[in-house]
Amino acid sequence: MSGAPSSGREPIRRLAPETVERIAAGEVVERPASAVKELVENAYDAGATSISVHLRGGGVERIEVADDGTGIPPGELVLAVERHATSKLAPLGPVESISSLGFRGEALAAIAAVSRLRLLSRPAGADVAEGIEVVAGKVVERFAEPRAPGTTVEVDQLFFNTPARRKFLKSPPREQVEVVRTLEQLYLARPEVALRLASEAGELASYPAAARLEEAAGRVLGPEFPRASFPVRASGAEGAVVGALGLPALAGPTSSGLYLSVNGRPVFARALAQAVRAGFGDALPRHRFPVGVVHLMIEPSRVDVNVHPTKREVRLAAARSVEEAVLAAVRNALVGATRLHEPVRASIGRTSRGPRGEAPPVGALAHEAPLARAAAVQRTLPQGPAGAGALGVAAAGGHPRLELLGPVGALYWVASSEDGLVLIDQHAASERLLYDTLRAGGALARQTLVEPVALTLTAGERATLVAHADEVRATGFEVEPFGPGAFRVLAVPSYRGRSAPAEAVVALLKELDEGGRATLPEGLEERRAASIACHAAIRAGDVVERAKIAEVLRALDRLPGRPRSCPHGRPIFVHLPRSRLDRWFLRSGA
Ligand code: ADP
Ligand code: MG
Repeated sequence: MSGAPSSGREPIRRLAPETVERIAAGEVVERPASAVKELVENAYDAGATSISVHLRGGGVERIEVADDGTGIPPGELVLAVERHATSKLAPLGPVESISSLGFRGEALAAIAAVSRLRLLSRPAGADVAEGIEVVAGKVVERFAEPRAPGTTVEVDQLFFNTPARRKFLKSPPREQVEVVRTLEQLYLARPEVALRLASEAGELASYPAAARLEEAAGRVLGPEFPRASFPVRASGAEGAVVGALGLPALAGPTSSGLYLSVNGRPVFARALAQAVRAGFGDALPRHRFPVGVVHLMIEPSRVDVNVHPTKREVRLAAARSVEEAVLAAVRNALVGATRLHEPVRASIGRTSRGPRGEAPPVGALAHEAPLARAAAVQRTLPQGPAGAGALGVAAAGGHPRLELLGPVGALYWVASSEDGLVLIDQHAASERLLYDTLRAGGALARQTLVEPVALTLTAGERATLVAHADEVRATGFEVEPFGPGAFRVLAVPSYRGRSAPAEAVVALLKELDEGGRATLPEGLEERRAASIACHAAIRAGDVVERAKIAEVLRALDRLPGRPRSCPHGRPIFVHLPRSRLDRWFLRSGA
């Protein structure tokens, strides 16, 4: 299926010069995650059933990948780290293999050239493992060590000899997020191989070998996936497609929740992702993207992986007809699935109720002192003189006095002013308020939950939580670990409200992971404040109590400079003066 040789291993040989010339030039190794990808793919090719990855300093200090695959004979260790030497010459011959499978014999050499690398391997039949140590591409030592059959590659101090490239690395926690993401892609491309990830902090992720795609996808996309997904299966002249996709209710704000692979290798293929999305038709609203896993099995000679240095992108000989087949397969599968799943759809999503029996009692904290906790709900915004039922907004700095008339569709507020009507966007208004509070050095109000809410995070989400701990806290969420993989939410942003806190945290982590969508405002600090404010603000669709609306309007009135737009440039108010109303109603004198 993958075309990779399994047991009957070929010796490592050098590629012919004319083959080397066809290799896409560029850096194979850009960061720890790309090294991990190459090393795990090598373990896949060696027929490993279980692979473990160990990081130190997010992989910048050290990466170790150990597998239980076929191993490398001692006489070939040096050749393995040489450029353009490979054992993976499929029956097609070297040139075709390069194009279709991407075996260029380049990765180990590329990693060894920019690190201190140890390659230790025990092939089946040998009773000891032998190894070499390579510093900046030069073999400096040979050694032998006990080891179970298989191969270990240790990469220390990536880019130690190329400071310019080392400078481009992000902080260790951010690099670690990239590694987790890469492992998720690798795992979902071959869920039959078990993957584990650990760091100096202990185990970060464990992806056991999964017989069913749904089960594997659930480990990455969240525990609700299996019962909220539908299978996709079709085959045709160009190959076969097998997948598990989330029902439309699971769709995400970007395409990053869709994992595509071709012949067992994760790929980035915009056209294929679009085909999957098109298969959903209008079941997906604008700006929502499918989540799930799609595997394509295509005759290797019909795939060209040699269009990108890291083999992330592929070119298919019959791209158009493969895309059409994928679209049709998704569309057909969804039609059946929607009928089947109708009753479940309403309950999709992470539970924000208490834990379901299996988790320890979270009520314990609530008994402590619910009143004291409730009283601890802070508000940074000053309380205006809102008399009983009074929703009038005090005039400030020449503002017309606003009288709240009511909300419209959980999106807008309508208020009357002295000379007409004012329409207010609830998200933009509260976002602006929080943004200005942050820019003035203030902290955002949070409200403590009387009962903490249980939260389960995937390994990817946990890594994001670590990497973005400051932003999460600044937004007003308080999340603490509560057992292996389990967390609980103790507090939420006060404007955002108490509903569905677990979903809110997951959504926030997803957006942080995607680096925020905002291109405005300019400046790092401003963008950071804007993104925190955006997450803490009242959302479009939130039902807001009148008292809170009045509070927002009052606070807005007090802001210096009377801002008219949110940090991303969308308007906060639309003013309809009396004169305009008069013209509409054909009153003379307007
Ligand atoms: P390629 O994967 O394109 O062949 P690499 O530089 O990644 O090139 O690896 C070179 C060779 O080293 C491989 O062809 C394979 O024979 C051997 N090799 C690398 N990693 C492993 C591993 N984990 N187990 C067995 N053999 C390996
Ligand atoms: Mg390789």
